[in-house]
Amino acid sequence: MYFGGIEAGGTKFVCAIGDEDGKIYARERVATEDPDATIPKVIQFFRNFKIESLGIGSFGPIDLNKESATYGCIMSTPKLAWTDYPLVRTVKEALHVPVGFSTDVNGAALGELYRGAAKGLDGCLYITVGTGIGAGLVTNHQLLQGLSHPEMGHVLLRRSPEDKFEGICPYHGDCLEGLASGPALEARWGKPASELKNDLRVWKLEAEYLAQALMQYILILSPERIVMGGGVMKQKLLFPMIRIRLQELLGGYLDLPELKEHLDEYVVPPALGDNAGITGALILARQAFTESRVARA
Ligand code: ADP
Ligand code: ZN
Repeated sequence: MYFGGIEAGGTKFVCAIGDEDGKIYARERVATEDPDATIPKVIQFFRNFKIESLGIGSFGPIDLNKESATYGCIMSTPKLAWTDYPLVRTVKEALHVPVGFSTDVNGAALGELYRGAAKGLDGCLYITVGTGIGAGLVTNHQLLQGLSHPEMGHVLLRRSPEDKFEGICPYHGDCLEGLASGPALEARWGKPASELKNDLRVWKLEAEYLAQALMQYILILSPERIVMGGGVMKQKLLFPMIRIRLQELLGGYLDLPELKEHLDEYVVPPALGDNAGITGALILARQAFTESRVARA
């Protein structure tokens, strides 16, 4: 049985064919241009295979409310050509299969939970620190979904006193994404994040803001494990720096081994590497297939 998965990102759409064990048989990368250029290529890829269902983990914000008239659409986004684009409806009408839909980070959280760094647990939080910052949470095998999907990259933090950078978030200025995303690092320090690796000041401040954010997530959501991915987290020195600062910030308040002696198993890199998102999209596909069977029975 084959499933289709799409990891829909701001620079590329990764399309893949996989089976229920998560094995990937075919994969294609389509550049994210305007929908009229990108989507026909994506649909053409899936027409070459017989898939039971399709899962999409998408950049956002997206409408995940199944009761809403705009369910499955991309909402207001800086990528203007995609604003209000009916992604789910378009692929469903073209491919005639059930479609599972969620955010890219929700997909990655599912991927890491069932096939990666949080295997065996009942939930985890996945955060990406890349072009943007976003996170998805699974608790008791359910994705956190309320009024909308969480937007944990835009939380406010306590500024480091010596940090005068105004931040780059178009909505909030100095929210977490405005201060600590890859483009924020480049704007603050004048060089792409990947070229800053020898400057300890950069990573100390970055670890400060990320540790503050993790503290909020832990206190509010109590995730079972935190998986940190995205381009900026390729700076592996961030992991020990974040763990140390997180422990200081928590101040011993939560007396749990995960947050003390086992913090190195609690805040971890993705085991699936760059495959977390596409693996999650395939899990969304399998879930959509199961749901459609249940609905028909
Ligand atoms: P996206 O968020 O667009 O899906 P990525 O997760 O790869 O993509 O994030 C891209 C961001 O990560 C860019 O801002 C880039 O500067 C930064 N980045 C990529 N590689 C590294 C690296 N080795 N060290 C630090 N930052 C990096
Ligand atoms: Zn913001």
